[in-house]
Amino acid sequence: MLTELKVAHCSDCGRIYQKNLRGLCHSCASESDRQLQAIDRFMVRYPTTDTETVAAHVGISPSRIRSWLRQGKLRNDSYPNLCDACDLCQTPIQAGHLCHDCSVRIQTDISRLLTQEQEDRERQRAAISYRFRA
Ligand SMILES: [Zn+2]
Ligand SMILES: [Zn+2]
Repeated sequence: MLTELKVAHCSDCGRIYQKNLRGLCHSCASESDRQLQAIDRFMVRYPTTDTETVAAHVGISPSRIRSWLRQGKLRNDSYPNLCDACDLCQTPIQAGHLCHDCSVRIQTDISRLLTQEQEDRERQRAAISYRFRA
């Protein structure tokens, strides 16, 4: 039987470790577990704490909390102020990658782009058939 040892760089500290599903070396994995537990304990006691405050309390950056929210490792269903931030304007959001305004704006941009493309194609087609006739 062939046993393959897969190694990777830990996505946190960059050390080489034996690859696992978490993408973290052993020490970073247990460290992040510890931090997650600390956040949980803090949030249970003070459910209205915001991202910045709890991050400062646990001693990590708010962006780490945001990425945990995004990965589903932290849940903010019962913690209204534990927020992720919009990718574009940094407005606090509860879920997803964009705030309402930005997602509406992007939808509009995309549909405008598609219309534009459609028009360009039609113009091209018209030009080609014109050349064909001539
Ligand atoms: Zn690590
Ligand atoms: Zn936004």
